Amino acid sequence: MKRAVLTAGVAAVAVAAGIGTTVVAQAAAAGCRVTYSVPSQWSGGFTANVSITNLGDPLTSWRLTWAFPSGQSITQAWNATVTQSGSQVAAANMSYNGSVATNASVSFGFNGQFSTTNTSPTSFAVNGTTCTGSVTPTTGAPTTAPPTTAPPTTAPPTTPPPTSGWNPPSNLVQPLNEVWTHQEQTYNNGNLYGFRNYGWDQLLANRGYINYCVRWDSSASVTATQRDQIHAALQRQYKKWMDVMVGHNNWPYTDVPVRVVGWAVRDRAQLQWSDTSVDIYVNNIRENAPQCSEPCGRFFNQGGTYPNCPGGAARHYDHSLWLTAGFGGGAGGDWGQRVGSEYFMGALNSDNIHIFLHELGHTYGLDDFYDWTPTGQCCFIMKAGSASTITEFDKWMFRDWWRHLKSRYGY
Ligand SMILES: [Zn+2]
Repeated sequence: MKRAVLTAGVAAVAVAAGIGTTVVAQAAAAGCRVTYSVPSQWSGGFTANVSITNLGDPLTSWRLTWAFPSGQSITQAWNATVTQSGSQVAAANMSYNGSVATNASVSFGFNGQFSTTNTSPTSFAVNGTTCTGSVTPTTGAPTTAPPTTAPPTTAPPTTPPPTSGWNPPSNLVQPLNEVWTHQEQTYNNGNLYGFRNYGWDQLLANRGYINYCVRWDSSASVTATQRDQIHAALQRQYKKWMDVMVGHNNWPYTDVPVRVVGWAVRDRAQLQWSDTSVDIYVNNIRENAPQCSEPCGRFFNQGGTYPNCPGGAARHYDHSLWLTAGFGGGAGGDWGQRVGSEYFMGALNSDNIHIFLHELGHTYGLDDFYDWTPTGQCCFIMKAGSASTITEFDKWMFRDWWRHLKSRYGY
């Protein structure tokens, strides 16, 4: 059984501050009303907002439970810690929003996935009491009338979900600004925005997938199994960057498929498969290495059409994965990523192929940090050698690119 634990992603902003009235109940009374809304939905995904109104005694903690009617699953939540087991979901308060006064409300939100239909749940319970919109005593009859408190005179504050806007943790604001300013000054002769072939441009042009061609710059042979392992590793590593964006600031994709559409080799006999699942380019030597067909490459066709690609536009490739025997370190850019073939093959099952992750960061515009360090940051994957995983700072630098480029794509 699948069991996922999800926590609020980012900036913690207090919600539903108490309304300043203390009522001592003679007996606990419980009651609640839940509003569930889906303000946005797209193919296979949705954002939901949930508002709980506490009609009973003041709560110091809450746990909302429900069942999804049509197989939905939650991918990211904010202002609640969400656990899911099958269709059963429980959302518990964060440290900052557990207290809910009588007649006050608290809200949280999440992004989810569905396959065919997205039927909203209709029955909810708070701390085990089904929300009926009325109040029931939970510990015997009250000896006095249930306390009533005037409803708040202003609407409870709601926290916008991180799906919109820009809300990095406060300690990252300054270093992120330093990085962006530095990039604006140094990229493309001071014309960062004039460059139109960042990974972002490529991914958005495809509406959400990436195609690769492998430049096999080695005399070693490759089995079909190794070919498929390389593809799987690419998909897994790519997902680490793409997951940074899911649900953030109108990012339109929940899942970015990575396909390998071609292989380039010196000698066809090195590739030990006979199926036609990938296009194979033989002995097209550029930069002293096998190159995939240039009419199929995004780098050579930045207008995004591929009229002379032998396999057609569907076999165009956005990035090259250039694997070079005996190559130490790496290189990355809008053309793709280059790392040592021995390194990559040795890391196929690694959780983090960190040199590759760093180079893929470059494809999406992220800079190197050889000669300076943003304030307060020591270690992150784009500072080569200082981290082997994508850190929170890396994630926000990545999101900052989307913040600055998204208007290009109509977001
Ligand atoms: Zn680098």
